[in-house]
Amino acid sequence: MELTICHLYPDVLNLYGDRGNILCLRRRLEWRGIEVTVTEKPIGSERSLGNCDLIFIGGGQDFEQETLLADLHQGKDAELCAAINDGVAVLAICGGYQMLGNYYETYDGHRCDFIGAIDLCTIGSAVRMIGNYMFRCDAESGGAVVVGFENHSGKTRLGEGVKPLGRVIAGYGNNGEDGTEGVRWKNVFGTYSHGPLLPKNPGLCDNILLTALIRKYGHATLDPLDDTAENRAHDEMAARLTKTG
Ligand code: GLN
Repeated sequence: MELTICHLYPDVLNLYGDRGNILCLRRRLEWRGIEVTVTEKPIGSERSLGNCDLIFIGGGQDFEQETLLADLHQGKDAELCAAINDGVAVLAICGGYQMLGNYYETYDGHRCDFIGAIDLCTIGSAVRMIGNYMFRCDAESGGAVVVGFENHSGKTRLGEGVKPLGRVIAGYGNNGEDGTEGVRWKNVFGTYSHGPLLPKNPGLCDNILLTALIRKYGHATLDPLDDTAENRAHDEMAARLTKTG
């Protein structure tokens, strides 16, 4: 088995080292003898998102999101929509997650029209939502408790019939009001959780990998790995957030 991972906009969307998630995806495949190719698609790169099995998009500040708009609307928007509709697995974080929706209106009134692959929109608020947070994935996304870190001004609302990735246990998630976090649409996993999301949450990583493998091969299983260290880090953070949450 093999997977091709496409890292979209690594040049501008890489806040808090979001690219560490690529390393995690890669290693957890290689440790199981599954081949991986990672291709980077920065601003100005050729299109061809449809040829990959998994697309990763990190987060970025309002400035970076506005910087990439011209390139996005030169065809990558349509390609990304087509890939999502075709069931390509996607992990998108914060600014990258917002980009899959209809638009983002910044707090100071700039409007970024995004790709509209998923019916959701984001509006900037005066108060930033910052800090370590925790949510439980819905059952269809594995049910795992995820510990993460969020930093956003945008409040995201999901459209009718669009399901979240999970429900907030501590922190803000999509908007700090309706208890939802992220989005789960076709094979897309969207989340506000920055940085080492996958190293801290190996169960979620494997869920995303399985989603991509099953789409490609019809069925797939992943050999178990020794996640003792990862689970200890996860449980330590979950315990802290339970006390403060
Ligand atoms: N600019 C967006 C917001 O503040 C996304 C930020 C991010 O990716 N951290 O909502």
